[in-house]
Amino acid sequence: MDPTRFPQLHVSSHPLVEHKLAKLRDRRTEPKKFRELVRELSWLLGYEAMADLTTQPITIETPLEPMAGAELAPKVGLVPVLRAGLGMVDAMLELMPSAEVWHIGLYRDERTLKPVEYYNKLPDAATVQVCLILDPMLATGGSSSATVDILKAWGAVRIKQVSLIAAPEGVATLSAAHPDVDIHVAAVDRALNERGYIVPGLGDAGDRQFGTFAGPSSEPGHDPADETAEVVRRLQRNLAEEP
Ligand code: URA
Repeated sequence: MDPTRFPQLHVSSHPLVEHKLAKLRDRRTEPKKFRELVRELSWLLGYEAMADLTTQPITIETPLEPMAGAELAPKVGLVPVLRAGLGMVDAMLELMPSAEVWHIGLYRDERTLKPVEYYNKLPDAATVQVCLILDPMLATGGSSSATVDILKAWGAVRIKQVSLIAAPEGVATLSAAHPDVDIHVAAVDRALNERGYIVPGLGDAGDRQFGTFAGPSSEPGHDPADETAEVVRRLQRNLAEEP
């Protein structure tokens, strides 16, 4: 994928990010270490994602004399996409302790890969100026686009997506639906596979954080993989057809 096609895509080139991402991907990395790495990578990506936030002047007093300082101007909202996004929240709260955390629950229908909303506790009107959507894996882009739709309808003015790994298909889908949304990632991988996983990726970010390795669910007499593969092929055609 040519990243210059997506001006709002920011791929970190920080050596610490590369180092930690390789450890995160490694299949031998156990949930405890995996969670630590998700936290550390979120901290580093969050730091980069907030580089353009505005500040306002304040006066402070050092032990020696008054001086002009600065404080963050916008109120920031964190929107972790359940459940894998939860592991990114603490790091962001360390960076911005006064950020508000809003939960929106979307699950990915395993046949259609379309997002289905099952939880939304946003108040009637927006209470923050900048929203960071936290989702370790930007796969199809469907959940992210749906989350942005919800946040825009809520009145959020500025929205950024922070993910650890993106698929080209996900970047293309989110950028096409919401060209004003900045996308901050540690890496853009090769593709989605026919099951909707990012490859080479890291597997299921939720399972690896929470130690739930039951394997994909299945309905008797029906193989969801066929429909999933068709959705992935459509996303790949869209990506190839983009100017
Ligand atoms: N969600 C994950 O956890 N991993 C993927 O590869 C894609 C979506």
